[in-house]
Amino acid sequence: MQLGTVKGQERIVNALTRSLAANRVAHAYLFEGPEGCGRRTTALALIQVLFCTQPVNGDACGSCPSCRKLATGNHPDLQLLSPLPDKRDISIEQIRELQQVLSLRPYEATRKACLIEPADRMNEKSANALLKTLEEPPGHAIIILLTTQADLLLATIRSRCQHLRFSPLQDQVIEELMQLNGFEPALAAELAPLAEGSMERALTLESEGDESKRRELLACLAQADARQISTIFDAAESLSSGREETLILCTLLISLVRDLLLLRTVGQSGVTNRFLAAELSAEAVRFSPENIMAALELVLNTRRVVQGNANPKLALEHLLLGYDRLRKGI
Ligand SMILES: [Zn+2]
Repeated sequence: MQLGTVKGQERIVNALTRSLAANRVAHAYLFEGPEGCGRRTTALALIQVLFCTQPVNGDACGSCPSCRKLATGNHPDLQLLSPLPDKRDISIEQIRELQQVLSLRPYEATRKACLIEPADRMNEKSANALLKTLEEPPGHAIIILLTTQADLLLATIRSRCQHLRFSPLQDQVIEELMQLNGFEPALAAELAPLAEGSMERALTLESEGDESKRRELLACLAQADARQISTIFDAAESLSSGREETLILCTLLISLVRDLLLLRTVGQSGVTNRFLAAELSAEAVRFSPENIMAALELVLNTRRVVQGNANPKLALEHLLLGYDRLRKGI
């Protein structure tokens, strides 16, 4: 990955490119931003420029042995540090090991590099152990910390790093990246607006977002009748069996209700679930525009409470009941 090919984070890439050109790359960075917005890709691209033996116009060449080793994930001078598989935190022992490795001469590159991810999983002990290394990394090593939330890190850690804030990706960038990943243009266009700025989310949506699940969801909504409570229980029963599934349903439902709102207010343009246009148009006219807004809030709220450990089945029943009440205006 070359810096020049990182998508959607131009402001940050430009800042890094300027630092590289001026030979003023910081020895410690904190990359903050949502999951799937390119923090890791950018960090690896920066390290690649620093390791590249034949840089071209200030960017990595992409073909020297060093670039090739980074691309396959086995460059001996790059350390990746994350919590061990069965542990929550990055331990102080891991930090000490890292310090030991960084203190050795680089094998092939001119300096060593280390990526700590997620950096907010360092507990107080391990974070404190890292402090001095952050201030003066041995042998000009570069240390990059990745986090979704910088305020979870000790202030003393933050103050020793150059803090760069990544934004969620624009829908258009996600669409482009999905196409580069082999998605059909139509599917990429449909899923990109649902990804909330995260490529990671876009890729999971692909597996969740199949047409049949959305059709089934619409059918269950049609069947759920607030005046006959058993239909609510039946619809909830057939839709979901657990928390993860309920969260996926909420995401799909958000996209469907957003389409209802568009259809009820501005018409077809911007509708995401175009393959359901006929069904959605029929559904949209059953609502007043205000009640569609209320339905959207209801689904957003349901997703929040399920994320926050509410019983998923109860939450879904409550959602179906509320949805039909809003639809009927009762
Ligand atoms: Zn190279």
